[in-house]
Amino acid sequence: MDISQEEIQAHLDKHIFRLISRAADEMKLECYLIGGYVRDFFLYRPSNDIDVVAIGKGIELAESVAGKLGRNTSLTVFKNFGTAQIKHKEYEIEFVGARKESYRNDSRKPIVEDGSMEDDQKRRDFTINAMAFCLNGGRFGELLDPFNGLQDLEDLIIRTPLNPDITFSDDPLRMMRAVRFASQLGFDIYPDTFDAIKRNRERINIVSMERVADELNKIILSPKPSVGFILLEKTGLLDIIFPEFTALKGAETKDGVGHKDNFYHTLIVLDNIAKQTDDLWLRWAAILHDIAKPVTKRWDPKLGWTFHNHNFIGEKMIPRIFQRMKLPQNEKMKFVQKIVSLHMRPMQLVEDEVTDSAVRRLLYDSGNDIDDLMTLCEADITSKNQEKVKRFMNNFRIVRRKLLEIEEKDRVRNFQPPVDGNEIMEVFGLSQGREVGLLKAAIKEAILDGIIPNEHDAAYLYMLEKAKEMNLKPLKID
Ligand code: ATP
Repeated sequence: MDISQEEIQAHLDKHIFRLISRAADEMKLECYLIGGYVRDFFLYRPSNDIDVVAIGKGIELAESVAGKLGRNTSLTVFKNFGTAQIKHKEYEIEFVGARKESYRNDSRKPIVEDGSMEDDQKRRDFTINAMAFCLNGGRFGELLDPFNGLQDLEDLIIRTPLNPDITFSDDPLRMMRAVRFASQLGFDIYPDTFDAIKRNRERINIVSMERVADELNKIILSPKPSVGFILLEKTGLLDIIFPEFTALKGAETKDGVGHKDNFYHTLIVLDNIAKQTDDLWLRWAAILHDIAKPVTKRWDPKLGWTFHNHNFIGEKMIPRIFQRMKLPQNEKMKFVQKIVSLHMRPMQLVEDEVTDSAVRRLLYDSGNDIDDLMTLCEADITSKNQEKVKRFMNNFRIVRRKLLEIEEKDRVRNFQPPVDGNEIMEVFGLSQGREVGLLKAAIKEAILDGIIPNEHDAAYLYMLEKAKEMNLKPLKID
């Protein structure tokens, strides 16, 4: 790394570290900046998450720093954990006393005791996360790097400071973190470390699903999420945490007819969509769009491989997957379900004919999520045949244009029927019931099919016509 001592000092001078330094010197406490902030400094990734370790009284140091920072500072002390957190402007600073950790077999919660700086660096997950800058006056900016984290940063390597089998067995969440850092930073996992993840993969079962899902979501939000998923697959972790996804693996051939490997196809779709959006839930929709292919796969002698209704079955599988993975069971999940259930529609539309009524129905069914749906459909084009890709993309451009045209004309995106249930009840003296529902549906269908425009008077006349067929008479005729 070509970063000089002067540059380190200049950087630390610019931020609030001199103030922490003064507080620590006054208290005669050895004190260090450690972990993610140091790593990100060397990677030129700006960060406001600061971790400070004091040899001894972390909480007292935090109290003194908070006093010096004065206004606009909040201090929260977690006595049970021996930590304290300061929020000041854009900074979040965690203070802790240096500690030594030992683990039992059945839990990732360690037994903690006071320790030396060396003990504290040894308890860190990866060499690149174990580097520290001293903050005390005379040694301000001195790097403590006992495990050659700087070299690993340069070589783009994730490696544990100690025996990886012990590191991962102690706290198996670190296996997910290893994959997450590899995916976020584009690093490789060191072979020894990788093999230990493979050996210890079953230990992931002692970690709460919430923590696993947190890391998985960070992998999904990384610039090229397939990097993380392929590592999860190769280490065997994916099979444990997300078996529905590994079930997509494999390509079968019968009578010379094959189908694509839906696992790798899905990863390409995910990487494609990651270039277009940072929306976690749209990325989840990409992951799940073909999730029901294994359960719907059939061989038809005439048609070859079919995956009938995999979009609808996929939509139905999602609540159970979200529940098990402790993902939210709210409108985020409903959004993912909707996109998955509709993901074939734009392609079907192109394959048949882009009629106004088909476009109107698509707009009606997708509502405000139409743009996200189109983004997924475009990401779903993973053919290696460039001619084909060009043709599909062009067809989707036509669909997008048509969507705009029809929306402008008919405004069906957030369709509200121009004649509603109340008006129907009033006109015919009906109370709520089957007939009102039938008339409402008939009006909606007629508008979507383009039989009548999306306007009140046309809908009113159409309602009278339909009512006649049903032997319903209006109370009075206007
Ligand atoms: P990010 O902010 O991207 O999550 P980070 O490295 O700052 O990255 P934190 O979870 O804030 O991640 O952790 C801060 C530091 O604490 C890490 O850099 C690492 O030194 C240590 N750490 C965090 N979690 C663990 C763990 N499970 N095992 C060992 N050390 C850990």
